[in-house]
Amino acid sequence: MNRYDFIVIGSGPAGRRAAIQAAKIGRSVLVVEKGRRVGGVSVHTGTIPSKTLRETVLNLTGWRERGFYGKAYRVKKDITARDLMARLHMTLDHEVDVLEHQFARNGVETMFGTGRFVDSHGVEVTLDNGDVRRVEGNKILISVGTRPYRPADVPFNGTSVLDSDEILEVPRLPRSLTVVGGGVIGVEYATIFSALDVSVSLVESRPSILEFIDHELIEDFTHQLRDRGMAIRFGSKVKSIEFENDWPVTILENGRRMRSELLLYAAGRVGATDSLNLASCGLTADERGRMKVDPKTFQTEVPHIYAAGDAIGFPSLASTSMEQGRIAACHAFNIAMPPAPDYFPYGIYSVPEISTVGMSEEEVRHRGIPYECGIARFRETSRGHIMGLNNGMLKMIFSIKTRRLLGVHIVGEGATELVHIGQAVLNLHGTLEYFIENTFNYPTLAEGYKIAALDAWNRMGAL
Ligand SMILES: Cc1cc2nc3c(=O)[nH]c(=O)nc-3n(C[C@H](O)[C@H](O)[C@H](O)COP(=O)(O)OP(=O)(O)OC[C@H]3O[C@@H](n4cnc5c(N)ncnc54)[C@H](O)[C@@H]3O)c2cc1C
Repeated sequence: MNRYDFIVIGSGPAGRRAAIQAAKIGRSVLVVEKGRRVGGVSVHTGTIPSKTLRETVLNLTGWRERGFYGKAYRVKKDITARDLMARLHMTLDHEVDVLEHQFARNGVETMFGTGRFVDSHGVEVTLDNGDVRRVEGNKILISVGTRPYRPADVPFNGTSVLDSDEILEVPRLPRSLTVVGGGVIGVEYATIFSALDVSVSLVESRPSILEFIDHELIEDFTHQLRDRGMAIRFGSKVKSIEFENDWPVTILENGRRMRSELLLYAAGRVGATDSLNLASCGLTADERGRMKVDPKTFQTEVPHIYAAGDAIGFPSLASTSMEQGRIAACHAFNIAMPPAPDYFPYGIYSVPEISTVGMSEEEVRHRGIPYECGIARFRETSRGHIMGLNNGMLKMIFSIKTRRLLGVHIVGEGATELVHIGQAVLNLHGTLEYFIENTFNYPTLAEGYKIAALDAWNRMGAL
């Protein structure tokens, strides 16, 4: 068969969720994937590998126990790259296994090769052995994701100057690391390596890191990083990268030089749309390879061709990509969808982790909404004492007029899980009273919600 109801190009979170959604309602679905296994960046070089690495590092270093036993405490002495890789491969194999099984159960066909459009319904797939297959789709989803941005003047060499895909294959742990790029990926890797006691410098040309996050949270976070010895260089661009005795030296425009054993260049990613021959179906991508879509339906300018996931840009998360894929498939096959909730959470798996949902204090102020904040420190909770936490905070923002929750911002242990309580209250339009009136399990970090609410209530008063 070479005609399908739905052709999905790319098997990352957006593609796989769309494919399964369409297959579940009985449509014939083909997923075209140029990698050797399904899963996309999320499974092979992005989300899952970096989170597995983080978990392994936290376990082997005994990071979570250091509040009690001191900075020198380690579960395993002399941690090697091999220790880190072992768990990585096991996790990835398992993830791929689950995915392949999902596809098989739902009757989704896969074809391994690089897809390119020949016209608006036709896709040509070049297989690994050079054979070319032609397939037709009534509806087509572009979910090809991104690849690391590699500017020509950065001397990537696969050994000491690496991008964020290559860092996963690092053969031995460096003693020092410079990370260029204070976005999510740069910050995650910088803090993971720092937890391994690697000497880390983080370079960001803007005046701060993670600028889209509530600034009070970032101040707390940056303070924690500096406190444990990380060198953070804001506000200066990289002028050049040179080598001194094989070690890369990062030279900033302000004249500062940073020499380290390894350099990770993590300043952005570009959409992998260049190989798709988009012109053949009347579509284009911007200079960073990203495509424009209708934000409600994920249709491109050619209505039967959809695009979802990182290939359409912000927010470029696996979580949101899956939802976009599902919505695109539902729209393509006329499955009714309720309107999307107002807010989705953002999780940053740095050490410590950060998670946020809703409006930041800067945004609330910018919109002119009268507001009040409430803050809880994890060290104020009994759970925090039990866990030996010295850091961590939960901040909530409420409207003074309606008392509705406007935003939740958390830095510290469990932030990416805890945030979902706030997300539920926010999207269900709950108010300060929800947190005041409800009982929370004790002792938990979630109790921080009640403490932060009481903190706001002290200034806002009763209803
Ligand atoms: C280091 C790192 C850490 C991350 N951490 C998180 C996190 O903690 N949480 C989170 O939510 N998100 C995280 N992300 C982001 C997340 O990985 C992406 O948002 C997600 O993978 C995007 O999914 P996608 O479906 O758009 O495509 P991708 O996962 O990028 O997959 C695209 C697939 O398309 C294939 N492809 C490309 N071109 C073609 C072609 N022409 N023909 C056939 N196949 C093709 C590729 O081989 C690939 O398999 C992280 C990303 C990185 C890089």
